[in-house]
Formats: sequence, structure tokens, C-alpha cells
Amino acid sequence: MKLLFLGSPGVGKGTYAQVMTKALNIPHISTGDLLRNETQKDTKLSKEIEETMNQGGLVSDKILLQLIKTRIKEEDCENGFILDGFPRTKNQAEELGKLTGITHVLNFKANDEVIIERLSGRIICKNCKTIFHKTGNKPKIENTCDKCGSELHQREDDKPESVKKRLKIYKEKTEPLITHYNDKGLLVEITINKPISEIREKVILEIKSYLEGKTDKIGEIK
Ligand code: ADP
Ligand code: ZN
Repeated sequence: MKLLFLGSPGVGKGTYAQVMTKALNIPHISTGDLLRNETQKDTKLSKEIEETMNQGGLVSDKILLQLIKTRIKEEDCENGFILDGFPRTKNQAEELGKLTGITHVLNFKANDEVIIERLSGRIICKNCKTIFHKTGNKPKIENTCDKCGSELHQREDDKPESVKKRLKIYKEKTEPLITHYNDKGLLVEITINKPISEIREKVILEIKSYLEGKTDKIGEIK
């Protein structure tokens, strides 16, 4: 099962990918996380990547393709994967098509107010990158990661100026991919406006039953 998660920044796709990676037992490949790992290195390139990301811009296709190519060849991807954050442009989608086939594209949607709220309240673990939310998906202990105990923080690119730029780029460059995959008959829409803490089990159930071919659409999960 080779899944692709699409949706606006802040829609929650990283969170749903975290949930589904466990439920389906296939790896979660987040290009945002892969890139944030690159920025930990001390090279000129990693400084450039960091700067682009902090401003909310797109990192070059060449870098992304190299990262993805290497990652999907690893052994844990044998039975499939969840791609989160890639492709983000038409060119990336075409290049991905040359590397591997995709079996399902899940397009996540939420109301605009929900998206803004999710972005401004998101906090992530400095160490293992697990995503939490200040109100909707709180850690058990304030500002501390449930998984590894490290400190949580707001991402540099979740600050208002960068968020604006990310949303604009999403509309211009990434949104057209919805039509691209819909035309291929791979797309399903999933709307979620409720916090994950209230509907985690439902999300798993509905997505699984779709992937197993028991239903042919999902719609809003309430
Ligand atoms: P979000 O989906 O919430 O915007 P991500 O963690 O997926 O956050 O991505 C963070 C940043 O990483 C993006 O704003 C961009 O700078 C960079 N990035 C991630 N994936 C890609 C990609 N496929 N192409 C170009 N840049 C990317
Ligand atoms: Zn952690």
C-alpha cells in the first residue's frame, strides 16, 4: 500500500499520518521531518535548507527527489509507506511517478478557521518530532513529549509571516495536484474538523475500511 497524504499546511495530515502509520504498520515518510534532519548537519547546504524552510518557501526539487529516492528504497518500505508532504508540485508528482506507483491519495480537508487554529497551536517535540497541539491534542505533561520526554516548541515556520507564505504556495503549487490525482482515479476526500483526541478510532476505522475496498468514499468524519 503506497499512500500519499495531501492537504493544506495545518490541515492535520502529519497527525493523521502518525496515527495511520501505527494502524497500518507501514512507515510514515514526512519530507518536512527529513529536511529538518538535514538542517541539523553543519554544511552550507543545510543552512540554505533551514533558511528556505523558516521563511516558508519550497526547498528545491533536486534535494527533495534525492531524499525520497533514498528513503523509499529502504527495507521498511517493502510493504508500502505513507508519503506526507511530497509531492508538493506538479514536477515532483511527475518525478515520483517515475520512481514508484502510488495506490491511494488521501486528500485531507478542514474549515479555514480550523486550519489557522491548528497551525497557530501546533507544538512539536524538539527530539522525536511528534506533533501535539496546545489545546486539541495536548501532551500529558505540559510542554513535554509523551513519547520521549523532551521539550516541545513551536516551529519557526508556524509563525504568522511564514504561515501566510506557506498557504499561498500551497494554493498555487500544491492544490493543482488534487485534480492531477483525481483524474487518475486515485483520490479520496476526508474532512475532519474535530480534534484528533475525539475521533482517533473513527479515523482509523474509516480509512481502513476504504483501503480494504469496503467503501468507495469517506467524506466528513464526525
Ligand atoms: P506543512 O505541511 O505543515 O507545511 P512540512 O513539515 O510538511 O509542513 O514542511 C515544512 C517545510 O519543509 C515546507 O514549508 C518546505 O519549506 C519544506 N518542504 C517539505 N516538503 C517539501 C517538498 N515536497 N518540496 C519542497 N519543500 C518541501
Ligand atoms: Zn519526543
